[in-house]
Amino acid sequence: MDKIELIGLSKEELAAEIIKIGEKPFRAKQLWQWIYLKGETDFDKMSNLSKDLREKLKELYTISRPKIVAEQISKDKTHKWLLEFADGQRIETVYIPEEDRGAVCISTQVGCAVGCKFCHTGSQKITRNLTAGEIVSQFMVARDAYGEWPTPTDETRFLSNIVVMGMGEPLHNPENTFKALKILSDGEGISISKRKITLSTSGIAPRIASVARDLGVKLAISLHAPNNEKRSQIMPINDRYPIEEVLKACQEYQEIVGRGRYITFEYLMLKDFNDSLDDARELIQLMKKYKIGAKFNLIPFNPWPGCSYEPSSNNKVHAFSRELENAGYEAPIRVARGQDILAACGQLKSKKSEANPL
Ligand code: SAH
Ligand code: SF4
Repeated sequence: MDKIELIGLSKEELAAEIIKIGEKPFRAKQLWQWIYLKGETDFDKMSNLSKDLREKLKELYTISRPKIVAEQISKDKTHKWLLEFADGQRIETVYIPEEDRGAVCISTQVGCAVGCKFCHTGSQKITRNLTAGEIVSQFMVARDAYGEWPTPTDETRFLSNIVVMGMGEPLHNPENTFKALKILSDGEGISISKRKITLSTSGIAPRIASVARDLGVKLAISLHAPNNEKRSQIMPINDRYPIEEVLKACQEYQEIVGRGRYITFEYLMLKDFNDSLDDARELIQLMKKYKIGAKFNLIPFNPWPGCSYEPSSNNKVHAFSRELENAGYEAPIRVARGQDILAACGQLKSKKSEANPL
């Protein structure tokens, strides 16, 4: 019989396993802490469990990490891992350090079915969803690398935030993604608070409210255009869920989490496509109409081999940002990180290509 992987089981599922093998429920709590608080992968080192129990666990279960096929660290310290799971499928995970904190950018699918025209991941067809364990273990690989076990106090953490902005559309894999984020935010383990987790979606409208209802993490919407005509040209998903539906779902999200919790609208600046002042004004009208507590994140386009778009000029990006700020919206310009190792937004891809020959 195949051994069962413990990473990715919910607390309740872990407790059920422990009861199944005839142990008391509090053992499940001890095991949870070994796995998620201390990062232990070796049953023999779990010193408060009896030898008998450790033997039993070794026989029936595993605690593993994906294989690190390659890792690169960019000039700006952005760290990228190419990870391989048991079936040989590969994804990328990125750590983006800042002075006294940092975000781990995790993937939720191998490839992506949304197929946005500007996205390197989108040019790789969807292969499969990641399991909850595969999503959680990406963060654990990053923690291993920086030795942040046991879970440090908030003030001293380098790996302080999680952004679900890697490969894949999280709301095409909501069950596993939500389960993983619940494990990652659990206070007796890895303990990343929900206020420090941001889920980014291309706008799968019917599932947006559940991000508030079932999870309570922060929300980012990849908007990238001020009207349906333009958005559909770069994001085919817009034909299925047009802007109006996405924004209505955002209203619902905000009714649940409270208006004070702003939604971030990501806006990719594409040269001569969506970067004029008229585009900015149209965007402002749109936000005013739906009365959403919003802030923007202006994203310089990260080119990749074979893409046909070009980044907007600095002047245009700054003028666009000023227009939004004058209308009362925060609109910082995102600094591209890890470009030299293709670790920046939209550059991830795990299949062989000229850019990624591994
Ligand atoms: N699928 C989700 C999350 C992953 S993509 C989503 O689309 O929101 C994370 C972010 O990177 C999105 O805002 C996406 O639009 C952006 N992105 C994609 N390709 C990019 C590129 N080439 N340059 C800069 N950002 C890009
Ligand atoms: Fe998929 Fe997001 Fe890339 Fe679009 S931007 S193809 S939704 S990963």
